[in-house]
Amino acid sequence: MRRYAPSDSLLTPRFSGITTFSRLPHVTDVAGADVAVIGLPFDTGVSFRIGARFGPAAIRAMSLLLRPHNPHFHIDLYKYCSAIDYGDLPTVPGAIEESNRRATAALLPVVQAGVVPIVLGGDHSISLPELRAISRVHGPVALVHYDAHTDTYDEYFGQRYTHGTPFRRAIEEGLIDTAHSIQVGMRGPVYGERDWQDSRDLGLEVIPWEEVIAQGRAAVAERVKARVGRAKAFFSFDVDFVDPAYAPGTGTIEVGGPSSAEALDLVRRVEGLRFVAFDVVEVLPLLDHSQTTAALAANIAYEFMTFVALQKRSAAVAG
Ligand code: MN
Ligand code: MN
Repeated sequence: MRRYAPSDSLLTPRFSGITTFSRLPHVTDVAGADVAVIGLPFDTGVSFRIGARFGPAAIRAMSLLLRPHNPHFHIDLYKYCSAIDYGDLPTVPGAIEESNRRATAALLPVVQAGVVPIVLGGDHSISLPELRAISRVHGPVALVHYDAHTDTYDEYFGQRYTHGTPFRRAIEEGLIDTAHSIQVGMRGPVYGERDWQDSRDLGLEVIPWEEVIAQGRAAVAERVKARVGRAKAFFSFDVDFVDPAYAPGTGTIEVGGPSSAEALDLVRRVEGLRFVAFDVVEVLPLLDHSQTTAALAANIAYEFMTFVALQKRSAAVAG
């Protein structure tokens, strides 16, 4: 069986060669891959500052800094997981519904092959076409959603498909197992008292950021794990979850959020859930000073890759 791993940056410098995620081989035949990093460079769903279409390229550029051993989990990722950079899914700038259709159609064979996708956005509207492909194979999945916003609004300016509405649409389409789903990090001024309650009324558990501060990260991570249980899960990470002091390169910043260290900790603490797909969205390189937001997104994707490696290691031990 073929196995895929990054180029060794001790043999050739990390700044040389064609840029792929973490110097993984760019492969479009998923046979032999356990996990595929995939760009979805689309931002027509954005309501404020636009430019996340350049997110995948920026995340890939900063991912060159990633190294193969994750000391937090004491694991050599590519010893257990064969990983590729699948390239980007097709999009149609300015045409969200057609773009969604093409993205779902292109992602579906990857998921059908049993490969775990880690999708790099793109604005948050891309989670809907991803979920359409994921649920076709896995059924409705539990949502683990870290974000400053719920993204369960009904419409913007009369439009049903935007980066503020993907999870309401996904729930309406039966793609999400709401009883096992949870949103963490909501904060900032909202339109009204109903905003977060609307998410709860859709069946989701919502933990605003102030509640994370009050309860502590360990307790909140336990709530996430209890909520999801053994359900198959999709982890969606919006970089605006993180305070704009650490993640300025995004379209809809909300002050008063977690540091990048706190965000990494909250991600790592939910390791062990049955994740079948991931995305990290809303990186806007044109506003990203010193590429810190792209670096954060690359590291979040790396933790997701680690989750897959840990799953593979457990499966190998279990025989
Ligand atoms: Mn979002
Ligand atoms: Mn957001």
